[in-house]
Amino acid sequence: MRVPFIAGNWKMNLTHLEAMDFLVDLESRFENKNGCEIAVCPPFTSIRSVKTLLDEKKIEASLGAQNMFYEQSGAYTGEISPLMLKALGVEYVILGHSERRQYFYETNGLVNQKIKSSIANGIKPILCIGETLDIRERGEAEDFVLGQLKECLDGIDQDAAALLTIAYEPIWAIGTGKTATVQDANGMCSRIRGKLSKLYKDKTAEEIRIQYGGSVKPSNISELMHASDIDGALVGGASLKVDDFLDIINY
Ligand code: PEP
Repeated sequence: MRVPFIAGNWKMNLTHLEAMDFLVDLESRFENKNGCEIAVCPPFTSIRSVKTLLDEKKIEASLGAQNMFYEQSGAYTGEISPLMLKALGVEYVILGHSERRQYFYETNGLVNQKIKSSIANGIKPILCIGETLDIRERGEAEDFVLGQLKECLDGIDQDAAALLTIAYEPIWAIGTGKTATVQDANGMCSRIRGKLSKLYKDKTAEEIRIQYGGSVKPSNISELMHASDIDGALVGGASLKVDDFLDIINY
C-alpha cells in the first residue's frame, strides 16, 4: 500500500516571518482526514523557522527543500549542501523541477548527480519530470518523460530507488491554471511505473510513489487522487494559501 503523499512547493515565496505566520494559521485549522503524508518545501531561508514551528506546534508534516548541490562542502558560492539540509532536519528534496531546468539549465546528468548525493546523505529525492506543450503536441511526451526518468536514474540501485518519489509535472500545466486530464495524468504515471518496473524489481516499482503536479487545486484534487497510479500531488501556487492547502490535503 502506498501512503498518499502531498507536498507543497512554496517556490521563491514567503520570508521566514511570513512562513511562521503561515504555519501558525495552518496549525490552528490543521486536519488530515485521509492520513496522507504531508510535506512543506519552503525556500532555504525559511527552513530553520519552519522546522522549529513544525516541532513546537506538533504539525505532522515533513520538511522538504526545493534544491541542493551534490557536494557536501567546498568552494561553491551560493550553493547549499545535503549535509546542511540534513542538519536542519530536512527529509525530502525536490530535484529536477522544470523551473530549475528552464532557468538554471539543469540537465538530467546534473539531476542524476544530485539524486545520488541526496540519497548518500540521507535525504529522499522527489524527482520531477515532465514534457513541454510542444513535445506533447508532437506526440512525443511518453518517450521524452521516460527518457528523462532513465537518465536521471542512471546508476541508482535498487535500495536507493526505494527512497524515491517521482513527480510527473507536465510543464504546460505548471502555474498556468491548466491541469492535465485525469486520464492523461494517470496514463503517464502508469507508464512511469511500467518503466520503473523495467529498471527495478516489481516490488520496488510498486512501492515508489508517483505524484502529479500542475495547477492542482481544491477543485481537481479529489479526481486526481482517485486515479489508480497517482499517489499524491506536488502543489505549487495552491500550497501558499492555508485554506486551499488544507482542502487539498482533505480532498
Ligand atoms: C510546482 O511548483 O511543482 C507546481 C506544480 O506548481 P503549480 O501547482 O502552481 O502549477
